[in-house]
Amino acid sequence: MSKIKILPEILSNKIAAGEVVERPASVVKELVENSLDANSTRIIIEVEKGGRSLIRISDNGIGMSHDDALLATERYATSKIYTDSDLFSINTLGFRGEALPSIASVSCFVIETNDGNDEAGTRIDIKGGIIKKVSEIGAPRGTLIIVQHLFFNTPVRRKFLKTINTEMGHIADTVANIALGWPDVRFSLLHNGKKVKDWVAASDPGDRVADVLGKDIRNNLHRIVPHRTGGVSLSGWVASPQVTRSTSRGIYIYVNGRCVRDRTVQHALFEGFAGRLMKGQFPMAVLFINVPADEVDVNVHPRKNEIRFLEGNKIHGVVAEAVSGALNLADRPVSPCFQEQDSEQHTAGKQDQEPGQPCVSESAPHFSASGKGHALPSEKESSQSVKNGIFQENRPSPAEQTTLWKKKQFGDLRVIGQFSGTYILCESEKELVLIDQHAAHERILFEQLKNRGSKGTSQRLLIPETIDVSYSEANLLEKLIPHFQETGLEIEPFGGNTFVVKSVPAILGHREIRPLIIEIAEKMAETGFNSGLEDAMDACLSLMACHGAIRANQQLSDEQIKQLLNQLEECENPFHCPHGRPLQIRWSLQSLEKSFKRIV
Ligand code: ADP
Ligand code: MG
Repeated sequence: MSKIKILPEILSNKIAAGEVVERPASVVKELVENSLDANSTRIIIEVEKGGRSLIRISDNGIGMSHDDALLATERYATSKIYTDSDLFSINTLGFRGEALPSIASVSCFVIETNDGNDEAGTRIDIKGGIIKKVSEIGAPRGTLIIVQHLFFNTPVRRKFLKTINTEMGHIADTVANIALGWPDVRFSLLHNGKKVKDWVAASDPGDRVADVLGKDIRNNLHRIVPHRTGGVSLSGWVASPQVTRSTSRGIYIYVNGRCVRDRTVQHALFEGFAGRLMKGQFPMAVLFINVPADEVDVNVHPRKNEIRFLEGNKIHGVVAEAVSGALNLADRPVSPCFQEQDSEQHTAGKQDQEPGQPCVSESAPHFSASGKGHALPSEKESSQSVKNGIFQENRPSPAEQTTLWKKKQFGDLRVIGQFSGTYILCESEKELVLIDQHAAHERILFEQLKNRGSKGTSQRLLIPETIDVSYSEANLLEKLIPHFQETGLEIEPFGGNTFVVKSVPAILGHREIRPLIIEIAEKMAETGFNSGLEDAMDACLSLMACHGAIRANQQLSDEQIKQLLNQLEECENPFHCPHGRPLQIRWSLQSLEKSFKRIV
């Protein structure tokens, strides 16, 4: 007798449920995704006991006919793909046809649905995967799914469930994640009969972003200029580098409306933030990426939260460029739009703000109103929105721009003096400005080195310096030697793990070279070339800048300060040191007057 048997369908559904339905939150995710695929604009999620006893999801979507409702709970039954080729151009959130049968196999399950074509709706009662009753009911167009006693027949799974609060936390995060990607759909979440959150439909996606990420973050969000390159479009928001997290949890990535975790996009995001974050910091961002359906494989994981891009490099480039563009734009001189906010925000003691936080409240009409997630405008509209939307919203008109561009940020400051031997104190017409002299000089030197400004200004050492590093460090250092040449640092391998330094960049002429080389070697051993040669070189240049820069507690003459300010004015990014820390703090006269209670 044969030992191999085909599993009964109920058992195979239970096995599928093991992958798809990990906890109540996964049930919520699958059911809400179905509601969105059905074009719903209103979805109500009611939960009891963290989803252990009840999950009830109702929508106003297209509903199902009697026959479809019966089919829907069969394994591999889907209305979303029909052929092989459909699998490689998926436009819906679901496609595997296994969520409903999987959930129904491990719960007491009810489906009530009406597609609005028949007079009566359909109700199907299923327990542990077995249909118990099919009846006609009166129901509005749409679908209601009730999941009770989840895992009642899989006790081990049930045992693995965490506390009610933990499970409810997962459910709320799941709904928030989805809600962020679908701003024009209203989501209501209730727990034990009480409202947890009502995400009302937002005509401006910025409102939904603020709603989900927290209102306090709103003034720190910078809108990404919508990009459209080679069929890939991108929009979204990045938070100021001052607002960071210590994990990737503040990074929301949506690919064709699907919330995913993706290393390529995350890496590109970090690249866009390069030089602005401190070690261990994670940026916050909401990225909406739309790619042609046949350029992304969504059938990578049963839970459908991972994807694979056909052309990862292309996506990487678009994201990195757009993110750094948004941050650079945010660093530019203030437009009238955010000058007002600026004076509001710059209260003394509130040091985490920079001048020029753009307002994001203006419309960002990059979402369709169809309930089909976000859709970017066409190429033409998109360039139009760049012209009309971005530059008019977030930046001054051309006439205002010329006057603003002319207005110097640092070169025109009047020097008051030095504070604590460490900070340069200056004033402009309406602001008190404090500049970290070391950070400012670091930025200047970093950009000079990066632009090869010091080429030819290297200084030969009278006695070459011999330096030992570890063997693994030596391997890495050797790779960088040719690139160091351009900065004026001439260093040669001397066999084994020994190197000889012959010349140094002029900016380092007066400094000890050994500590710098050792720090560079350590840094390379730590980060290596994981993110490419350019990043590795940037890390080295920022170390050189750090070693060469004027220190804290160093007295400077007025001339030296003036020169520093003029050089800072020339910098591409004069607001942060190369490590991403702010190098200046500004207080508006108004905010000072407020602090002194001269005005209210
Ligand atoms: P999939 O979403 O992968 O197609 P599911 O098991 O989640 O598989 O759903 C099976 C089918 O049931 C769907 O393809 C869809 O036709 C139908 N369906 C499920 N939920 C809804 C809903 N809320 N509204 C309308 N149709 C639905
Ligand atoms: Mg589904």
